[in-house]
Amino acid sequence: MPTAEEKFVDVACWSCAAPVVHAQLFCASCGKVQPAHSGADYFEVFGLSRKLAIDTTSLEREFYRLSRRLHPDVYTRASEQEQNWSLRNASLLNDAYRTLKEPIARTEYFLRLEGVEIQEEGKQASDRKNPSRVPDDLLEEVFELNMQLEEMRMTRKTGDDDPDLRQDLLTAKQQFEAQLAETDNFIQQLWQERDEALASNFDFGDQIKQRMVAALDRRRYIRNLVRDVNETLDT
Ligand SMILES: [Zn+2]
Repeated sequence: MPTAEEKFVDVACWSCAAPVVHAQLFCASCGKVQPAHSGADYFEVFGLSRKLAIDTTSLEREFYRLSRRLHPDVYTRASEQEQNWSLRNASLLNDAYRTLKEPIARTEYFLRLEGVEIQEEGKQASDRKNPSRVPDDLLEEVFELNMQLEEMRMTRKTGDDDPDLRQDLLTAKQQFEAQLAETDNFIQQLWQERDEALASNFDFGDQIKQRMVAALDRRRYIRNLVRDVNETLDT
């Protein structure tokens, strides 16, 4: 990832020598494909400032517009170097789009860009073994759920089923799913707060970022609970 300083240093277009920002895929002056920095900031790839509330409809439109300009057919008669750059830029563009269009991936990416340490997605196995991560307000519900899950696992081991318990677990799952949706809404609320703080130059950004990290942890925790219920019920 480029340092803040590097990012704002312009380079010259290889073809017309006009200044080009590192993350730019094309020269704004002559339109030629540029060797974009591999660690380019995804927001900059789309010409966006680092704001979290993104209009995903225009993001998608811009993605398709840039994709068309990077299509291999466009470069059949270009130099080998331009062909390579267009391929590299297409892959950068895909990564940037995939990350920014998803609310959670975007939030995580943003926090990493800002140097905040967050738990990596996909390391769920260790979450489950770490009871300190249970959000305080969920302690009782989680305790109750784990008891029911244990009971259900034992019942199922003997080849039986327990329709009442199954129903209880499905009800609990619905409640956790509702909390997941609430957490998602809360994260989007934090986007607004952070974007507004940025616009007004009022520096409580760090505090908002820590609340984002906590919300992401909570989300991950609840998602694992829902997965546990699904696995136990085989749904
Ligand atoms: Zn140029």
